[in-house]
Amino acid sequence: MRIVLVGPPGAGKGTQAEVLREHLGVPHISTGALFREHRRKQSELGRAVQEYLDAGALVPDAITNDMVRERLAEPDAENGFLLDGFPRNTAQLDVLADILAATGHDLDGVLELKLDEDAAVARLLARGRTDDTEAVIRHRQALYREETAPILEHYAGKVVTIDAEGTVDQVTARALRAVATLRG
Ligand code: AMP
Repeated sequence: MRIVLVGPPGAGKGTQAEVLREHLGVPHISTGALFREHRRKQSELGRAVQEYLDAGALVPDAITNDMVRERLAEPDAENGFLLDGFPRNTAQLDVLADILAATGHDLDGVLELKLDEDAAVARLLARGRTDDTEAVIRHRQALYREETAPILEHYAGKVVTIDAEGTVDQVTARALRAVATLRG
């Protein structure tokens, strides 16, 4: 299965993707996690993206798209993936469409996790990642509203939306039901 997870910061995309990947047998590919891993290792890419991560700003598309192309070309992604955090704008959406077209595949669907912004802030402040200060969270939320949410319109007809409020288990149950509808 080829699924994109979309939702505001704090909706629990990463947490749910970790559970779903077990059920679906496909890798969880998180651009944020890939960037953080590069930063941890202080690779050239990690040093280049550090300031964007800290500011909660989008890493430039050229850097992000190259990294995603490489990751999706790895053998474990051949039979499917759960993409978390990509695409985040319409330019990235076009790149994903190109990557899929080149391999003759299509997305099975988009799983949208919906969560109120104030609930998301509370969750993220509890998580406490270095980019989880209230000011940076609010900036990431604004970017989500302005840049990322509009991609859902492009995926119209392919999107299943679930309520991301509640416990991890409650949201997982909703996510599994939603993914089952994508499976057809
Ligand atoms: P996330 O783990 O999805 O919350 O992403 C953490 C940070 O990584 C974001 O605030 C951005 O700085 C960067 N990032 C992750 N995915 C992307 C993307 N698709 N495009 C640009 N920047 C991204």
